[in-house]
Amino acid sequence: MKIIRTIAEMQEQMLRLKSEGISIGYVPTMGFLHEGHMSLMERARQENEAVVLSIFVNPLQFGPNEDLDAYPRDFDRDHSVAESQGVDYIFYPSAEEMYPKDASVQVSVVDRTKVLCGKSRPGHFDGVATVLIKLFNIVQPTRAYFGLKDAQQVAVVDGLIKDFNFPIELIPVDTVREEDGLAKSSRNVYLIGEEREQAVELSKSLQLARTAIQGGERNPLKIVDMMMRHINKNTSGKVDYIEIYSYPELQSLETLTGKIIIAMAVKFSKARLIDNIILNVE
Ligand code: AMP
Repeated sequence: MKIIRTIAEMQEQMLRLKSEGISIGYVPTMGFLHEGHMSLMERARQENEAVVLSIFVNPLQFGPNEDLDAYPRDFDRDHSVAESQGVDYIFYPSAEEMYPKDASVQVSVVDRTKVLCGKSRPGHFDGVATVLIKLFNIVQPTRAYFGLKDAQQVAVVDGLIKDFNFPIELIPVDTVREEDGLAKSSRNVYLIGEEREQAVELSKSLQLARTAIQGGERNPLKIVDMMMRHINKNTSGKVDYIEIYSYPELQSLETLTGKIIIAMAVKFSKARLIDNIILNVE
């Protein structure tokens, strides 16, 4: 496994692979790897001849009052996780390497970002799109693997790949959960005391919604209201949003039908957790 820190060397290595006709599976991450990231690497390993993992905590996608400095980092551990998953290259650039000067072009994502995390984290997806355009040009992958835990990100990347004609196949991967149902996240380490037990209520409320829909409920307001009450009753967290849209278009629905996403964000004292389920409603 090679660790590469410069864009020039990464591009050189990737061009060499491409000239030999080798398929490249790419997993972009911010590090502090867990089983969610591992399932992406595993899938990339199965489907490609070479696997690239990038670890970059992208300052552009953090708002001024968010957790950029506190974001958990442990390169040594990530290194052994990547090695155990059969990763061939880790791209591990510094912020100076990725952003050596002020930008002369800015990217603005105008669709699929007015709701959910796009609404509560202004500029977040512009930062995600900017770094991904750069990373896609650096890595030039055949396939890129993204987790459905960040389903809005998958929807934005789908638009980005299509609008900018990247010759990349987007592979969405299901959310990996703890045994009790909590979605794995690098940010779960911020949960303090009882918050860890309470955090399971996010996935429980999503399961309540699923059961209600299976039982015939089609009114999104009723489902959201039920979930809101569940979270407020069972946790000390503050609901940032609980919303239901069509997926991946993220359009409002008066009646639940077709492919839908039920998504939520809840703020605990130090951690803001997100979770979602995607359902096909008859
Ligand atoms: P991050 O390091 O949080 O930026 O995540 C890197 C990639 O891993 C993103 O595509 C995430 O959606 C994905 N990911 C994070 N947590 C999970 C999870 N619990 N299950 C599946 N994929 C995940």
